[in-house]
Amino acid sequence: MQFRVPRGTADILPGEVEKWRYLEDKARDLCRRYHFSEVRTPIFEHTELFQRGVGETTDIVEKEMYTFTDRAGRSLTLRPEGTAPAVRAFVENKVYAQSQPTKWFYIGPMFRYERPQTGRMRQFHQFGVEVFGARDPGLDAEIIALGRDYYEEIGLTGVTAEINSVGCPACRPVHREKLVAFLTPRREKLCRDCQARLDRNPLRVLDCKNESCREITAEAPKITEFLCDECGPHFEAVKETLDLLGVNYRINPRLVRGLDYYTQTSFEYVLEGLGAQAGTLGGGGRYNGLVEEIGGGDVPGIGFALGLDRILVALKDQGIQLPVGRRLDCYVVTLGEEARKRAIPLLAELRRAGCSAERDVLDRKMKGQMKAADRERSRYVVILGEEELSRDAAVVKEMATGRQEEVRLDRLVDYIRAGSKR
Ligand code: AMP
Repeated sequence: MQFRVPRGTADILPGEVEKWRYLEDKARDLCRRYHFSEVRTPIFEHTELFQRGVGETTDIVEKEMYTFTDRAGRSLTLRPEGTAPAVRAFVENKVYAQSQPTKWFYIGPMFRYERPQTGRMRQFHQFGVEVFGARDPGLDAEIIALGRDYYEEIGLTGVTAEINSVGCPACRPVHREKLVAFLTPRREKLCRDCQARLDRNPLRVLDCKNESCREITAEAPKITEFLCDECGPHFEAVKETLDLLGVNYRINPRLVRGLDYYTQTSFEYVLEGLGAQAGTLGGGGRYNGLVEEIGGGDVPGIGFALGLDRILVALKDQGIQLPVGRRLDCYVVTLGEEARKRAIPLLAELRRAGCSAERDVLDRKMKGQMKAADRERSRYVVILGEEELSRDAAVVKEMATGRQEEVRLDRLVDYIRAGSKR
């Protein structure tokens, strides 16, 4: 029997892993500059956290969660997203009692039972940020700019931030009423999913991907026309700060998060040309009611999550090579038993000195060892031949130039170290 990875998951092998590390390192460095701290929460949580924190009427909770019962009969779920766990950790650890705002970021795998295709996996990976404790609309814009900076720094081009405001529990009902009045006479023409949404969560009809539903809702009342005295100016201030930051954005009235705890700013990063699904690289928004929903106080929040798998698809699509590679500083070629014995402590010393060093462990002849050094793109090859060893020396060859010289063994580590730093 041959085992295969579960559908919608993938191995990340050497060669690919370096790209992931690069994306993760970039995220960490950017977050350092924006003064965020990393948080790590468990891979699984109590199912109820997501039912509350993501929402009962969302696709995620209705049909995409990996939920299981543990041996003690508890219902647990592999995390489908990172915001609800971050909020839980914020509340449970009483982080709200410390000085605010709290600025967190996370990187890690998420799990959703979806139909796999390019850029859509069942185990996928997100880089996300969350800020708790601040209502400043300028912060919303800075968060949107952080995501923009990330895409820019890894070399992706053509990313646009789509933004919208979804109002708040004060102004949303006014819009909702108008929306229902608009949609009800058109009910029969909506897709089956949207007919159900109309009853339970009409805002979600606006973000249906179905072409005919989109045509119907093109003329639907826009929430931005109904924003209250708090949400209207907030949205204006977000746009103003986005302009100050030079963020490329466009307003998309379809961008909704149909739950009461999502408020005001809502945004997505889209890439033209990757298709409706894979083209969404990331998304986020404000959730001023979520901390309270999860059992904390009235603490506002805002955040985003960017899909790393999709970024890699987009980078490949744009023909962008990340500056990564495994480099070997030194391959030690040995000829004969005596040389092998000298090579072992030499390798240890090189590695202690910070150089990456390798030797033959397959009993290859000189030619085979040179080939291996070449394949590993080693910067230097050190050849321990009998004659040189008798003089306590070795031949060092720089592979790129072909230049070679004899170096005394007691100087060898310094020689390689100095060269590999250049
Ligand atoms: P969401 O949490 O649904 O707002 O997703 C945020 C981002 O995560 C999306 O824009 C995608 O880039 C990524 N994402 C979400 N679901 C998947 C998935 N099943 N496979 C790969 N990436 C995903």
